[in-house]
Amino acid sequence: EKGGSQARGKIVMATVKGDVHDIGKNIVGVVLGCNSYEVIDLGVMVKCDDILNTAVEQNCDLIGLSGLITPSLDEMVNVAKEMERRGIDLPLLIGGATTSKQHTAVKIAPKYSHAAVHVHDASRAVGVVSTLLDSKRSPEFVRNNVELQEQLRYVYEGRKSQPLLPYTDAVENRLRIEWSEDDVAQPEFSGLRTVDDISLAEIEKYIDWTFFFSAWELKGKYPKILESAKYGEAARELFANGQELLAKIIAEKQLTPKGVYGFWPAASAGDDIIVYTDDSRTSERLRFNMLRQQSIIADGKPNRSLADFIAPADSGFRDHIGAFAVTSGAEATDLADAFAKDLDDYNSIMVKALADRLAEAFAECLHARARRDWGYGADESLSQSDLIREKYRGIRPAFGYPACPDHTEKGKLFDLLDAKSVGIELTESYAMIPGASVSGLYFGHPKARYFTVGRIDRDQVADYAARKQMDLDSAERWLAPCLGYDPDA
Ligand code: SAH
Repeated sequence: EKGGSQARGKIVMATVKGDVHDIGKNIVGVVLGCNSYEVIDLGVMVKCDDILNTAVEQNCDLIGLSGLITPSLDEMVNVAKEMERRGIDLPLLIGGATTSKQHTAVKIAPKYSHAAVHVHDASRAVGVVSTLLDSKRSPEFVRNNVELQEQLRYVYEGRKSQPLLPYTDAVENRLRIEWSEDDVAQPEFSGLRTVDDISLAEIEKYIDWTFFFSAWELKGKYPKILESAKYGEAARELFANGQELLAKIIAEKQLTPKGVYGFWPAASAGDDIIVYTDDSRTSERLRFNMLRQQSIIADGKPNRSLADFIAPADSGFRDHIGAFAVTSGAEATDLADAFAKDLDDYNSIMVKALADRLAEAFAECLHARARRDWGYGADESLSQSDLIREKYRGIRPAFGYPACPDHTEKGKLFDLLDAKSVGIELTESYAMIPGASVSGLYFGHPKARYFTVGRIDRDQVADYAARKQMDLDSAERWLAPCLGYDPDA
C-alpha cells in the first residue's frame, strides 16, 4: 500500500516539460509504491516550477525526473540548475531511455551541489531510494556516486579531445553512389496519402514483441525469452496478459490507427535534401538539413550523411524521397487513464506498452506498402521475422535517432505530411502526441543504411545553423548530444 503514515519516504516524480513518455516512470512509481514509498506522480509534460513547488510544499524526500527524447536531457539540466538556485538539497534521480550515467555525470551533476543519481532501470529504483533515505548508508553511497561521476567526466574529456575531421574533408569523403535507373525507383504516385484502411488486426501481425518485453524491463529476444531460466515465468505471464488485453482492444476497436505518407520529387544539394513541390522540380517545398559524420573513419570508409542516398539534381536522375507519420490511436491515453482511475496501474501501463507496439508495427506495415508503391517491393517475400529485422531494400530513419539526431527537423516533416490532419502533433521539444506515434523519412536506394552521425565539430554546426537559418546558440542547444566541443569554452 502506498502513502499514509507508514510511508518510508516521499518522492515526487515527473516526465519533464516537452516530453510525453512515461512507461518507465510509471513502472518505477508502481515498484516504489509496492515498497511502501509515497509517490506523487505529476504525470507528463511537467514544468520545472511545478515539480519543485510540489517537492517543497509536500515535504518530499526525493525528486525523480524522467524523459525519453534527447531534448529532455537539456530540460533535466535546467531543473538541476533551478534546484541549485532555489537552494533545494534533495537527491535528484534521473531516468528514462536517452538518459545515461555519462550524461548525468557530465551535464547534470556539475550544476547541482547535492546528489544527482542516474537510475538505470526500475529494478534499481528501490535500492537507490532506500539507500539515499538511510542516514547510515547514504553518505557512502553519495561519495561513491560523486567519485564515479568524476571518473566519467574524465573519460568524457578524453574522448572529447580526440580530433575530428574538418567538415570540408568529411564532405569530400562522402559516400559517392553510382546512380542507375534500377536503383533510383520511381514511385507510382507523388504527394500525400492518408491511411485509414489498415485494421488493428492487420497491424498486429507486424508487432516486434521483443520490444514489448524491454518496455517492461525484461531483457531478451522474443520468443526465446519465454523459455528463459531467469525471466521465463515473468515473461510468460506478461505475454499472456498483454495478448489478452490486445485481443480485447482489437475486438472492440478501442484504438483507431491513422497515418499519412507520401513521396516527393527530391534532390540532394550538399548535405541538404531538397523536396520539390511537384514533378516539374522548379520550386522548392522545403529542404531537410542533414548532418554528416565527422569522426576520422578508418579503412577508406565514407563519412556518411543521409543526403548521400538521394541523387543530386545534376546527376541526371529524378530521385524521390518518402515520408510518413503514424499513430496507433489517440485513445490510448484515455484508456490508460481509465485503468489508473480504477487503481489498475498494471493495465494502465500495459495499454501504453501495447499502443507503442502497434505504432511501431503500423510503421513496419506501412513501409511495406510504400515499397510496393515504389515498385521495387512489389514481389518482395519476407517472413515476419525478416521484416522485423528490416531485411528489405531501403530505410526509414526517424528524426532524433543517430543518422538524423536533430529533432527540430520533425517540424518540416510534419508540415510536409500535414500530420495534424491525422491527429499527430509535436510538443515544444518535438515529442509526438499521441505518444504512440512513429514518423520518419523513406529512402529507397539499395545502398541506404542506418548509421550514427556521432560527434560533430564547430565548423559543421556553423554551416548547419546557416543552412537551417537558425542562430548558432539554438543550433548548439538542439544538437547538444552530438557536440564534439564545449560551446561555452
Ligand atoms: N521493430 C522495432 C523498430 C523500432 S527501432 C520496434 O518495434 O520497436 C528501428 C527503427 O528506428 C528504424 O525503423 C528507424 O526508424 C529507427 N532507426 C534505427 N536506427 C536508426 C538510425 N541510426 N538513424 C535513424 N533512425 C534509426
